[in-house]
Amino acid sequence: MYQTIKLKTDNRNEMIDITGQIKKLVTESGVKDGICVVCSAHTTAGITINENADPTVCSDLTCFLEKLVPADTEYFEHDEGNSDSHSKVSLIGPSVSLIVDDGQPLLGTWQGIYFAEFDGPRDRKVWVKIISG
Ligand code: ZN
Repeated sequence: MYQTIKLKTDNRNEMIDITGQIKKLVTESGVKDGICVVCSAHTTAGITINENADPTVCSDLTCFLEKLVPADTEYFEHDEGNSDSHSKVSLIGPSVSLIVDDGQPLLGTWQGIYFAEFDGPRDRKVWVKIISG
C-alpha cells in the first residue's frame, strides 16, 4: 500500500516544498524506524532534496536548469514541446528515499523535500511508500 499526495502547480518551472506533507504521512503511518520513498508519478516532474531556508536556492536551481536545458533547444525531436522538461527530470531524478528515525524522516537542518515541476501548470501526484524495519 502507498499514499498519494495531489498537487496543483502554477508555473512551468516550480519547486514546491512537500516536507510537511511527507512528515505528516510518516507520523500517520505509525512507523518509527524504516524507510520512506517519495516518487513523482510523472515524466516531466521530479523529486529532490535541497535547502528550505532561503527560497532563492530553489529559484536559482530552476533558473540554472532553464539555462542548462532551454525550452527552445533546436535539436530536440520530441514533438510535444517539452523535451526540456523530460531532460530536467532525468537530471533531478524521479524520487528520493529517506531514513525514518524516531517516527520522522531524517533530514539535515536545512534540508527540505521538493516536488520539482518542469512542465506546469498541471495537476500532479506524488506517491509515498513508508516501510517499517
Ligand atoms: Zn513529452
